[in-house]
Amino acid sequence: MNVLGIETTCDETAAAIVAPGEDGRGLIRANEVLSQIAEHAAYGGVVPEIAARAHVEVLDRLIARALDTAGMRLSDLDGIAVAAGPGLIGGVLIGLVTAKTLSLVARKPLLAVNHLEAHALTARLTDGLAFPYLLLLASGGHTQLVAVKGVGDYVRLGTTIDDAIGEAFDKVAKLLGLGYPGGPEVERMAEGGNPERFALPRPMLGRREANFSLSGLKTALRVEAERIAPLAERDVADLCASFQAAIVDVVVDRLRVGLRAFAEVAGHPTALVAAGGVSANGAIRRALAAQAGEAGLPFVAPPLNLCGDNGAMIAWAGLERLRLGLVDDLTAPARARWPFAEPKAA
Ligand code: ATP
Ligand code: MG
Ligand code: FE
Repeated sequence: MNVLGIETTCDETAAAIVAPGEDGRGLIRANEVLSQIAEHAAYGGVVPEIAARAHVEVLDRLIARALDTAGMRLSDLDGIAVAAGPGLIGGVLIGLVTAKTLSLVARKPLLAVNHLEAHALTARLTDGLAFPYLLLLASGGHTQLVAVKGVGDYVRLGTTIDDAIGEAFDKVAKLLGLGYPGGPEVERMAEGGNPERFALPRPMLGRREANFSLSGLKTALRVEAERIAPLAERDVADLCASFQAAIVDVVVDRLRVGLRAFAEVAGHPTALVAAGGVSANGAIRRALAAQAGEAGLPFVAPPLNLCGDNGAMIAWAGLERLRLGLVDDLTAPARARWPFAEPKAA
């Protein structure tokens, strides 16, 4: 069983081919990703129209290259998976129309995958992880704690009431004159900084619901930065380190609450899992690994190339759905917004 996965929801154009591997894992036969970072860097964020045009320019060639790398033709595929949302609608439409066309021409089942569900299932692609597990999904557009109980069976234990963690990293980077995307830049600067120089707030600490709030932290950082301006490199490093330390404290505290909420809806988790672009952050990974260890749970996070957006996770989510007969037809809509997890009943 070989599934092609197409990803165009944001600023990565990606195509991959995944098959079932050993021990319940996936086997990645090809994984082509083209980031548009250079095209958007001058604007300090993703420009939707530029993103859509860039997807059009490269998607067909990326798919051809993925087939080449895997040594396959369209006729060798068993399904065409595509991220049908959530995301920037122009990009989503380009991926979806391409996938529908391939599905029609090659007469292969279409799998309209939720991009967030694909991040959520990545731990099964890489580690063959069994359900249920507790997931921290933290990316540029989303920050959620989710009980992953099965394919299509997700309970949202908490979410952010304002900014996503990745968004907070991006905004802080912009404020401090660092590049885009901000996460890796802030992490790099934080390495040489003093995390205790600035006493930044830890929003939501101790709250009983597993929600996040990050805009106050970002504002507090801006106030500190303005107070000591002009900023020397040392100041930027200390601000980044203090910010990252606050995020780590918040994440650990929220997960403590999330673990309790998980037990109510899904019993005992097989693991603590991180996914989404922010899960590439070394400080967050180390803190979560320690926390999982204390709770007697394995910690699973994707290798760095599968943290951010990629085609392999879309192909894998499509493969999981195909195995269950959850196929789509040509009426599948493109969705700018598409919640994938049911909120936990209060
Ligand atoms: P979504 O998945 O919510 O639709 P997205 O697809 O844009 O959003 P991803 O590509 O999964 O998000 O992740 C990108 C985000 O991850 C950016 O906000 C980026 O700053 C953040 N990020 C990447 N690397 C790191 C890092 N090392 N530390 C912190 N944040 C990071
Ligand atoms: Mg991206
Ligand atoms: Fe993403």
